[in-house]
Amino acid sequence: MYLNNSKQVVIKIGSSLLIDDKKKIRRKWLLDFSKDIEELIKNNKKVIIVSSGAIALGCKKLNINKKNLKIDKSQAVASIGQIELMNLFNEIFKKRKLNLSQILLTLEDTEIRRRAINAKRTFDNLFHLGFIPLVNENDSIATSEIKYGDNDRLASRVAQISGSDCLILLSDVDGLFDKNPKVNKNAKLISNVKEINNSIEKYISKNISEHGTGGMKTKIEAAKICQISGCYMAIANGLINRPIKSIINNNNCTWFLPKVSKLDARKKWIISSIAPKGELIIDEGAVQALKMGKSLLAAGIRNVNGKFNKGDHIKIVDKNMREHARGLSSFNSDEIFRIKGQHSSKINEILGYVSKSEVVHKDDMVEI
Ligand code: GLU
Repeated sequence: MYLNNSKQVVIKIGSSLLIDDKKKIRRKWLLDFSKDIEELIKNNKKVIIVSSGAIALGCKKLNINKKNLKIDKSQAVASIGQIELMNLFNEIFKKRKLNLSQILLTLEDTEIRRRAINAKRTFDNLFHLGFIPLVNENDSIATSEIKYGDNDRLASRVAQISGSDCLILLSDVDGLFDKNPKVNKNAKLISNVKEINNSIEKYISKNISEHGTGGMKTKIEAAKICQISGCYMAIANGLINRPIKSIINNNNCTWFLPKVSKLDARKKWIISSIAPKGELIIDEGAVQALKMGKSLLAAGIRNVNGKFNKGDHIKIVDKNMREHARGLSSFNSDEIFRIKGQHSSKINEILGYVSKSEVVHKDDMVEI
């Protein structure tokens, strides 16, 4: 069983598990859930919890409705609700002598390599000290352009940067079905997904999504990140009591299996970027060169999309916009615009300064 075999697990809880439709906090559920966590830790697993609920609990405190909440107001509401969220968890986890710590992340904390490495070190030190990190997006600071917005993708990136081997998304659905289970009685739960192909993408539109921000779409996005970073991921129903125990005993969920990945940690980080800043459109010759494991040179670049800086994540696509690789750019977008199509020996003359000759070096690139 994938969860049994894992050493480090990330568990994501959606808001609807903490607060019911009548805005009542599901304390009993959380107490039972803490038993699940206690048992995982007794079995020598390291656990990270990613929990939503800051906005929902902030709304409850202020007695306002989540709907129609403007972004700037929701940032203040999240700031009020985050402390409620931590108090709730702390109060309940204390009963089992489980120690919690809080980590609030923004998109940039996972996208900038130095910050991602720092975050990993903090996770490791917390495990060492015997604390369970409880993560949420820093909703009070994150602005709409640079925001995860959903904790599904945040959780998958947390799993990847922390080097976890299993992610469980607890939601209010049992997993991924081949038909809409609310309308079709004979809808079947898909138990294992090896490859997210067109037919899986089609199932998504048929699946009723949960009330949270993400729905099934962001869960599939999260699964893609896990698959390429070598992490098992499950979508499971969290509404039942002891949902983790139920996964262990009954395996009643959808598992996404990782693609066997021999990539090192840095390359896993490159490939699972949430928000590449731009695209380089390359010609057929460059596509062939990439397939042979070569670096991307200016001569093979036809065009540039987006504004980005040196060192930013970019996608490398062909003229039909099919993605072939991801990498870190050695030049900013304006520079690439000026040197595209040119022989490497011309770069210094065009830009007026000495620079690298590869636009994306093979060590900074992962083929897809
Ligand atoms: N970070 C948001 C919160 O704590 C939740 C995002 C989501 O629903 O996935 O309210």
